[in-house]
Amino acid sequence: MLQKNSPKRIKSVDLVEMKIHEYQARSLFRDYGIACPADTLADSPEAARQAADQFDFPVVVKAQVLSGGRGKAGGVKLANTPDEIEKAADKILGLSIQSYSVETVLLAHAVDIAREFYIGLTIDRSSKAITLMISGSGGVDIETLAVENPDAIHKIPIYPATGLEQKVLRPVLENVFESEPLIEQANVIIDSLYRLFTEKDCSLVEINPLALTPANELLALDAKVNFDDNGLIKHQDIEALRNDEESSKDELRAREVGLSFVSMDGDIGCIVNGAGLAMATMDLIKHFGGTPANFLDVGGSSNPEKVLNALKIILGNPKVRAILINIFGGITRCDDIAKGILMATEQIDIPVPMVIRLIGTNDETGRTLLSDAGFTTLDNLTEAVKKVVQTG
Ligand code: GDP
Ligand code: MN
Repeated sequence: MLQKNSPKRIKSVDLVEMKIHEYQARSLFRDYGIACPADTLADSPEAARQAADQFDFPVVVKAQVLSGGRGKAGGVKLANTPDEIEKAADKILGLSIQSYSVETVLLAHAVDIAREFYIGLTIDRSSKAITLMISGSGGVDIETLAVENPDAIHKIPIYPATGLEQKVLRPVLENVFESEPLIEQANVIIDSLYRLFTEKDCSLVEINPLALTPANELLALDAKVNFDDNGLIKHQDIEALRNDEESSKDELRAREVGLSFVSMDGDIGCIVNGAGLAMATMDLIKHFGGTPANFLDVGGSSNPEKVLNALKIILGNPKVRAILINIFGGITRCDDIAKGILMATEQIDIPVPMVIRLIGTNDETGRTLLSDAGFTTLDNLTEAVKKVVQTG
């Protein structure tokens, strides 16, 4: 999958996307009229053998996991006999791909591929536009191509006010697809893909490969669709596609109690108000040599209950060796936060050090409440981050 963000920073994009499986994305493609071979699912080698009855050989067996790169990881295999299907499914169902264990395989008739193209749409923050990406060199090496020969991927900004403009699109399609019948097919596919992207508030849609068959037909042989979390409130049908394995247990618990929470690999638990401040706090922790255990935005109007729930979830993670509470009170009242912390100390054991930075609305009341209970607080963020990194 093509990503624009530098890998060194925490990717804000990762924090607000919902991913779905290929089979779910293929079904959406079909809803939008994008041609994609029929498929079925199986969760055991025997079931795969039986389910594949309906397809002509060769059959492609594909791992269904919420990550790309399955081909290279051995998660996509072609089979020519029922035995081969069973064997392929057996191998693939035992795999773990980018830490996702494969529970399900997709089966479909394997199409003859004359050539592989790539078409994708994403949001490009630097051009502040939806960006259409097209390449005549699709397939499993698109990521390498993006790094080594970025010019081989055509990028076209699309501004919602004007939408897809033929005068811009046409020359690129001529360059990549060359013949008129293919250009026409590609045009229809791109149109449908753009409708899907905008109507369902996607953050990424990709067809890779978009295969050219010997009959000169363009078919989507893979489907990737990610959604902007913030748009999901408008799309019950998409929300219903959510897969629990996308979320850690902590994230599922957090969602239940209305917290915006993302698990990370580090050991410093973070409780912050505001998504932007939470991101900045994580960057600062990294800057001073620490690693955040989570992203957590307790939100604007945080009641004490939220802080209590946040602490419970963070303390449930055995890796956490210290907690940083960073509150820049606007709508959030620092005394509410302080009450939440005190409520938590009464209800649960907090066995790790906490560094508390409080500033803004009602901070003096909040600080007094905390210092009366024996906590020290800071008002400078840099000092607080340095302290929490050194603690524990
Ligand atoms: P990814 O590696 O996770 O992107 O998985 P893909 O679904 O893209 O599959 C990887 C590769 O397998 C593709 O680039 C194709 O080369 C190949 N592949 C997938 N489906 C078919 C098919 O129906 N027929 C043939 N011949 N190859 C396929
Ligand atoms: Mn692919």
